[in-house]
Amino acid sequence: MAGGWARDGAVSEQIEASISDELARMKARQDPVGESLTHCAECEEEIPEKRREALPGVKLCIDCQQERDQAFQARGGINRRGSKDSQLK
Ligand SMILES: [Zn+2]
Repeated sequence: MAGGWARDGAVSEQIEASISDELARMKARQDPVGESLTHCAECEEEIPEKRREALPGVKLCIDCQQERDQAFQARGGINRRGSKDSQLK
């Protein structure tokens, strides 16, 4: 039995390490690059300071970000109405 708890400790340390690894990777994916822009990369609208603080590395204003999110969802999800329309044509 001796040492059993120590091994458990080592395992959970490993798990914690891989979780924080994963979190770091996810964060890197969300915020791919460095500093926030003061103006939107797409429309050059000023990005509010609060948004820049909330999203380090932000590159887009809210409008452009929403458009991009919607485009991403349309591509990723199933657009039933769209496919129905194209079947009717
Ligand atoms: Zn914009």
